Amino acid sequence: MALIRPKDTKPEMLVRKMIFGEGFRYRLHQKSLPGCPDIVFKRLHKVIFVHGCFWHRHPRCKLARLPKSKLNFWEPKLSGNRKRDLRNARRLVGAGWRVLTIWECENFEDRQLEAFLTARPKRCSN
Ligand SMILES: [Zn+2]
Repeated sequence: MALIRPKDTKPEMLVRKMIFGEGFRYRLHQKSLPGCPDIVFKRLHKVIFVHGCFWHRHPRCKLARLPKSKLNFWEPKLSGNRKRDLRNARRLVGAGWRVLTIWECENFEDRQLEAFLTARPKRCSN
C-alpha cells in the first residue's frame, strides 16, 4: 500500500521537475512565510503554491465537490482552508512577493511557469 504524503503530491513533483529543467534555484515548504509556500524563489521574490482541488476548494472545479456525508464537518473545514489560503496570499503580496497558484487539475505548461519566473516587476525608469 502506498503511503500518501501530502507534501509530495504529483503535480508538485511535476512542477519541481520543470523548474529543475529551467535551472532556477528554489527552496521547498518555507515555514517562515505565510501559508508555508510549496516552492520559494527567494532571490526572485516569487512563490508557488500547488493546491489539491479538494482540500483547497478550487472554485468551480469538479474535484472540489463536497462529500455527501458529514457535510457539517467538511463544509466549515474546507471553507476555512480556502479562506486561510486567500489570507496568506494577500499577506505575501503585501510583503512584495509574487504568488502563483497551480491547481492539481490544471494542465500546467512549462512556458506558463517560465513566464511567471522570468516576468520582471514593474520599475520606474529614469
Ligand atoms: Zn481543480
